[in-house]
Amino acid sequence: MKKYIFVVGGVLSGVGKGVTSASLGAIFQSKGFSVTAVKADPYVNVDAGTMNPIEHGEVFVTCDGDETDQDMGNYERFLDVDLRSENYMTTGRVYQTVIQNERAMKYKGKCVQVVPHIPEEMIRRIQGAAVQNKADITIVEIGGTVGEYENILFLEAARMMKLEHPDDVAFVLVSYLPVPSHLGEMKTKPTQHAARALNSVGIQANMIIARGPQELDTPRREKLAVHCGVPKDRCIAAPDIDTIYRIPLLLEEQDVGNKLLHDLRVKPRPSELSSWKTFITHIEHARQNVKIAVVGKYFGTGQYTLADSYISVIEALKHAAWSHRYRPELTWVSAEDFEKDPKTVSRLAEFDGVLVPGGFGSRGIEGILTAIQFAREKKIPYFGLCYGMQLACVEVARHVARLEGANTIEVDSKTSHPIIHMNPLQAKNILERKYGATMRLGSYTCTLKKGSKARKAYGIDTIQERHRHRYEFNNTYRESLEQSGLEMVGINPESDLVEIVELKDHPFFVGVQFHPEFQSRSMRPHPLFAAFLAAAGKQAKTA
Ligand code: GLN
Repeated sequence: MKKYIFVVGGVLSGVGKGVTSASLGAIFQSKGFSVTAVKADPYVNVDAGTMNPIEHGEVFVTCDGDETDQDMGNYERFLDVDLRSENYMTTGRVYQTVIQNERAMKYKGKCVQVVPHIPEEMIRRIQGAAVQNKADITIVEIGGTVGEYENILFLEAARMMKLEHPDDVAFVLVSYLPVPSHLGEMKTKPTQHAARALNSVGIQANMIIARGPQELDTPRREKLAVHCGVPKDRCIAAPDIDTIYRIPLLLEEQDVGNKLLHDLRVKPRPSELSSWKTFITHIEHARQNVKIAVVGKYFGTGQYTLADSYISVIEALKHAAWSHRYRPELTWVSAEDFEKDPKTVSRLAEFDGVLVPGGFGSRGIEGILTAIQFAREKKIPYFGLCYGMQLACVEVARHVARLEGANTIEVDSKTSHPIIHMNPLQAKNILERKYGATMRLGSYTCTLKKGSKARKAYGIDTIQERHRHRYEFNNTYRESLEQSGLEMVGINPESDLVEIVELKDHPFFVGVQFHPEFQSRSMRPHPLFAAFLAAAGKQAKTA
């Protein structure tokens, strides 16, 4: 069995297609189907690695080292699966293949055309992902909104698939129904237009997921049904709610899974969502609050974008907190404030834990170092991810090992003590302006030192974690930092690179060169995040 559900967006971007796609996947999983998800990203970029995270959101790294859209993270978190490069495509990637094929005479002298050759390559990729993941049901999320130029070829691919396999393809339109404040009433008209825009490219939605600030009521459901040609019972209410993890339950209460199965000519099956229900209970019944400061540079574009740029970190903190029955209180702290006035760093004393996420460039770095020093000296649990690990090494080098002027060469290329330096391959890439997909990317093995906090947290000796960085710890400084109490407890066995550092005599001061956040799952929190939250929770109790 190979069935495909295309999820498209209407009216607005950011309407929740990613979470809806992930939730639909979770519902079908709970019915015993094997499920995979594909993101079709309209951008001409070959991957998300070269996109600005402030504009595009987080770059989610897959285990095989692809730099993809943040929605891939939603799929992994909801479905608890590892996705790969074949689960992600951009317009650029599709064109790249078609052009390479054309150069290699693979079209045997035919004129290569936008239609059908581009959609055909898209279909080949979608079906390939279904086969490689042995999926009964493949959810394909098409980025952007209907009615724009950018995603038109993906919609054409979907239409062609429906034409060829009418019983195996269904369409879900996730659309927005605004409630203008001067009217106080939910309006269906923009969604009617979206459904028509979809019709104009030859696609009829099987189902409408009605997102909005309020619940879809009966009169409006009837209106949508008539004007969009979608049966009433397939106009599904999806109002804003407290946590995205409730959405599978909310959709299944309206029997979304069986309705779509019916359209795909598959017999209905009961769903088994008890693990989701228990998970929600844990979220609702937290025993105590834990306050975590996430310290980084300020992007100056509002909370929403910040949350998007670090969505996997934020979700990983929540998963870990909930697993201990803690209610996470996450606060974004701008490191630049500590640069302007280092005394203000004392505000970190009110937090139970400090986290420094990954990042690039030199803005805010001195402020981050001030924050790390404060967490180290005041024994506040500290967790450094990637740049957060590199800067923890710099901080200890400067203030404990007394290596004056110590730095990462990313910030100061002429530093007297390059604690963090660049491996020669990366230097060559930069010299040749090869920026796309040239960082250290994807899963690498790391062996853990016996007796370390990290080893205890993971419970095993060898782990795999995902990377995305150019710079590395400089092994010349290993000894002097170890003597200062910073232990190198995670090492890559092939390259001897330092992957995890932790401080002796501190409740929790751990830095990791990789991005553990990418492997945190809703109901399977990452061991290091869980250990960090446990340490933070302990502080909260004694405070
Ligand atoms: N800027 C650092 C590097 O490139 C860290 C990258 C990151 O935090 N993802 O090595």
